[in-house]
Amino acid sequence: MAEQFAGTIPLEDLARLQIYHNTAGYPEREMEKILQETGGSFLFGGPIFLSNLQACCHLKGDGVTYCAPAYQVWGMAWSRDVQDYGCALLPDGRDNCVECVALIVNGKPVENPHYNPDMGGSRPRQAMGSKAGRFAYLVTETAYTPEALRDVLASAGWDSAVMLDGGGSVCYRDRQGRGFACDADRVLPFYLVVHEKEENPLNEKKTVCLDAGHDAGNLANRSPDGTYYEHEFALDMAKRIRTHLERCGVAVTETRPDGQAVSLQERCKIANGIQGLDLFVSLHSNAAASSGWSSAKGWSCYLYGAGGEREKAAQAILKQVKAAGITVRTTALVYDPALYVLKNTAAPAVLIEHAFHTNQEDTENLKSEVWRAKVAQAEAKGIAEYLGVPWAASDGGAVQKPEEPSQEAGDPELSAAVEKLAAAGIIDSPEYWAAGKYSAATVRLLLIKVASAMN
Ligand SMILES: [Zn+2]
Repeated sequence: MAEQFAGTIPLEDLARLQIYHNTAGYPEREMEKILQETGGSFLFGGPIFLSNLQACCHLKGDGVTYCAPAYQVWGMAWSRDVQDYGCALLPDGRDNCVECVALIVNGKPVENPHYNPDMGGSRPRQAMGSKAGRFAYLVTETAYTPEALRDVLASAGWDSAVMLDGGGSVCYRDRQGRGFACDADRVLPFYLVVHEKEENPLNEKKTVCLDAGHDAGNLANRSPDGTYYEHEFALDMAKRIRTHLERCGVAVTETRPDGQAVSLQERCKIANGIQGLDLFVSLHSNAAASSGWSSAKGWSCYLYGAGGEREKAAQAILKQVKAAGITVRTTALVYDPALYVLKNTAAPAVLIEHAFHTNQEDTENLKSEVWRAKVAQAEAKGIAEYLGVPWAASDGGAVQKPEEPSQEAGDPELSAAVEKLAAAGIIDSPEYWAAGKYSAATVRLLLIKVASAMN
């Protein structure tokens, strides 16, 4: 049975009608790659008659004029937002236009459609036009002469129609995987890609999975002086980056939103369960192999291997981190196929080692509210850039945690307690504890220490 795809779409439901210039040379059998690339809902072929794969009648797409012959002729024209789409005498000032063989102009069937002899006869056909203010299209394997096509469209109520290049270039493909191509190997120079608002994945939210490394059960990953714990930092950074991304309209999932213990397997399972996940970002701080303080320092990002989407994401993040003035390691991007979450996540994945908690200067940064805010913003910016999501500036204070009341002005009770615990050897850094700025997770650790000291 002959395939046929036809319909009308209200202009307000169209995000875009795109004249796609096939510079990559996709043959008709690879039309779905164009859908993937453009995010369109469906596309069909030959919006223009061809000679040597060049446009040879009026054709303009996104303001680029592909062909503008000296003559005037009826065709279809529209601006970027498609809302003024309609029949027009070309050339036209708008950003997009198509001409080929006018069959119906402003409600009137054209008595003698004008076309070259090689376009005549009964052949598969494709046409675009309008019907009652809607965008109308027909792509059919059923063979029609141009005149018969005109009559079919006129009786279907179309009030304007142009026959697009016909015969061998008739082809159609949609997001549901439906379609056909009269000549699968043929490479058309132009396609018409239709972007419906609801079905356009570009209008769907981008998705990011933030993976705060470790958990409060892992106390080994800490600074040598015990003033910094990686799990607390990672969770805090996830919250900060999440705030930025959500403000930009990105849908964010966390692997351990409440700080609970989650295995590496579970983390990957969470990520792999998110349909169409755009990016997985694991958040960590680094440690040098030796125990105690060491000199290794700086930000770096780990990837399973070079190239691909993960590299693009990592480069975008790195660029913003550098721009924010964060110290970056000489080898800022590290390829490591052994890291579990990089190896076992289906989406592009990166693992950020923010700084070394085995370096004194880095540890001060890792503990700093200001530094955390700066890095989180830079990384979120990079992620947004990678996703192609416009950056929405924060109102300044919104993403910063409200300043906790400073204890520096003096909290005699706290100071006395800290002195006592330090004298008893239960805590290492009295200044840190006396400053009174620590998370619930840190307090939890302190309680455990105090309790074990009581034994
Ligand atoms: Zn880690």
